[in-house]
Amino acid sequence: MHLFNRSGTLTVVGVAASFLFSGCQSTNSDQAEETGEFVPPVQAAPVELQSEVPSEEDIAKPNEAELRELEEALAAEAQSRLKEPRSLSEQAKFFGAKATRLAETKQWKLSKGDRTLILKEDSRIAQLDGVKVILDAPLKRVRGNWLLGESDRRIVLNSAFGASKAGGIGAGTIVIDPGHGGIHDGAKNERIGIKEKELALDVSLRLQGHLEAQGFKVVLTRYDDRHIELKDRPSVANGLKADLFVSVHFNAAGKPEPVGLETYMFTPAGYPSSSATEVGDDAIPYPANGLDLQNFELAYAIQKSMLTRLGREDRGVKKGRWAVLKTLECPGVLVECGFVSNDDEALLVSTAGYRERVAQALAEAILGYAGVEADS
Ligand SMILES: [Zn+2]
Repeated sequence: MHLFNRSGTLTVVGVAASFLFSGCQSTNSDQAEETGEFVPPVQAAPVELQSEVPSEEDIAKPNEAELRELEEALAAEAQSRLKEPRSLSEQAKFFGAKATRLAETKQWKLSKGDRTLILKEDSRIAQLDGVKVILDAPLKRVRGNWLLGESDRRIVLNSAFGASKAGGIGAGTIVIDPGHGGIHDGAKNERIGIKEKELALDVSLRLQGHLEAQGFKVVLTRYDDRHIELKDRPSVANGLKADLFVSVHFNAAGKPEPVGLETYMFTPAGYPSSSATEVGDDAIPYPANGLDLQNFELAYAIQKSMLTRLGREDRGVKKGRWAVLKTLECPGVLVECGFVSNDDEALLVSTAGYRERVAQALAEAILGYAGVEADS
């Protein structure tokens, strides 16, 4: 579509240029007559023809150069379509990875160097180096071949086996967003006497200390128990041209069983969030979608680091259209550091020791992502 629009514009420009050109030539031949130079009539004739008002048909007709450009573009497009991987093996091969089917478990193992991605047929659940990742679409059989969806190829496969887009922010500015606050307690466990807004602020202040000790500039969206509108939280990061944004939360469920850790990136445009199977009516691209790959790499680094430090259940790197991430212009994630609705986990998160380990895990992941060596 874009190609034809562009070509249409070029056509009009081409006609305008030929008007200018013919005007120029008339002037030259007038001057030639005045100076008495011989002007062959064969040159004058096409000038007269060109100065006629072109028909609409002529305007719509692309000239030869434009036709050539169009043909070349179409040929390039057809060529790229031929090269498009048509199987999981070809998709892996594009990034230099090898795909092997594990028949007994209906899984696929993709590997390159020390990295391994395990995919399951007809499933959205994947494991990247042992960390759970919820895909945007299930691994599907298309025309007889298993194939990873476009978004998962662009993000997960690229992150696992392609060139990393993380790092290079040096000791930049990091905005930490302690979830909830003021009239919004967030999740609560009254039996244990904990509120999410207090836990999130405590972890955020600890994280601030660790990051500042490594030379980062750190700004919190709140430093005390106050209400901040959701939309104002990413605005703090955008206003400061921050390099990273981390929203800190604790989880709750309607039943007591769920436990563990999960890290969210903003859902890629056109795909359902991890908790849904339908895209819904909120699938248009938002500013955060400009950084899908970086968001994934940050979320993955944080999830992996938390699992290593805390040893809690891995609920995965997930996708959600959270208001605090939607308008972000820098890489950002929302991290859920444990369930307050499970009494055992609530007791754990109520301890300063656990929250300190959460803060250390987040700091380590951020340092790794930023490409900064930790000063210990
Ligand atoms: Zn929350």
